[in-house]
Amino acid sequence: MDSRALYQEMILEHNKKPRNWGVLADATHKAEGLNPLCGDHIHVSLKLNGEQVEAVGFEGEACAICKASASMMTVAVKGKSLADAEQMVQEFRDMTTGKLDTAAAPHHLGRLTVFAGVRDLPTRVKCAILPWHTLHAAFAGSDTASTE
Ligand code: ZN
Repeated sequence: MDSRALYQEMILEHNKKPRNWGVLADATHKAEGLNPLCGDHIHVSLKLNGEQVEAVGFEGEACAICKASASMMTVAVKGKSLADAEQMVQEFRDMTTGKLDTAAAPHHLGRLTVFAGVRDLPTRVKCAILPWHTLHAAFAGSDTASTE
C-alpha cells in the first residue's frame, strides 16, 4: 500500500472509531484547542501518574484530519513518560512543517508518519497539529491552545 492510500485508510478508520474518545473524569491536566481557520475545537484531558501519562482522552468537533491525528496521538502517548510524549509533540510538529524528514532522520513517530504528507497542504497542517498543540498546552498547565 502506498503512503497516500495508507494515509486515507488511517484517516477513515480513526474517524469511524476514534480511540480514547471522551473527557477523563479524573484528569490531572486538560486543555482546549482551537483552529479557527477550519473550525476544529477539541478538548484533551490526561491523567499523569508522576511522570507517566497514565490515561488520555479527547473529544470535540473537528474535521477528519484533526480527529484522526488526535485519535492516533492518544494511542501514541498513552503509557509514555512526559519527556517522551513532549519529544513526540516536537517531532510531529517538525514533520508536518517540513523540518523533520522522517524517511531520513531517526524519530519516534511510528505510524504517525502517515501525516508527513500534510506538509504539502498548508491549510491542513494546522488541523493535524492542533491535537499536539493542545496536548502540549495541557502538559504546560495552560487552558487553551490556538493555531492562530
Ligand atoms: Zn480541520
